[in-house]
Amino acid sequence: MQVRALKDIKAGDEILGSYCGDTGVTIAERQKILACYGFQCTCASCSDPLSDHLYAKILSSDQQLDGSYQTWFKDLTLPDDHIIKPSLLWVSLIEQQGFPFKTIYYHHLDTIVKSFIALGDLENSVKHGMKLARYFVAMTGQEQLMKERADPNYYSRDRSFGTRRSVGKAKRKGKSKGKSARAA
Ligand SMILES: [Zn+2]
Repeated sequence: MQVRALKDIKAGDEILGSYCGDTGVTIAERQKILACYGFQCTCASCSDPLSDHLYAKILSSDQQLDGSYQTWFKDLTLPDDHIIKPSLLWVSLIEQQGFPFKTIYYHHLDTIVKSFIALGDLENSVKHGMKLARYFVAMTGQEQLMKERADPNYYSRDRSFGTRRSVGKAKRKGKSKGKSARAA
């Protein structure tokens, strides 16, 4: 058996394992699965009465994420962080709720990285790319991905690097014509 961590583990931290796998999504369903083990789960998610509602929202948050990215990429009236901002919020919510093993987590991170690549923002591409690599490594054990994704060249040689011109945060029609954000 191999165990890989999705986040840093400090000395003395308790390491928790899931008894419910990827199923038993609601609190009630999870407690049902756990009944045969003779305990009630008191993790952050099971202790939060709003967790079920949040969980359903999290799961549906990637609907049309790809479509939204395509729209943002073409529509220069939309701010730079049009996709990045909400996806970052979803990522931190998923981490808070303790579901960073879900495909949805990967999907948001992937869209964030894709957006930073399109904007030609190397620093943020690497920063979030490393987080994505960590997810992959935890899922697949392909350790070499950490080194590969830490290399700025991995992002700068992407075909879409810097191809979506930066328009800043608010709507600024017609300005900074033809310029990509920090295109290298
Ligand atoms: Zn729990």
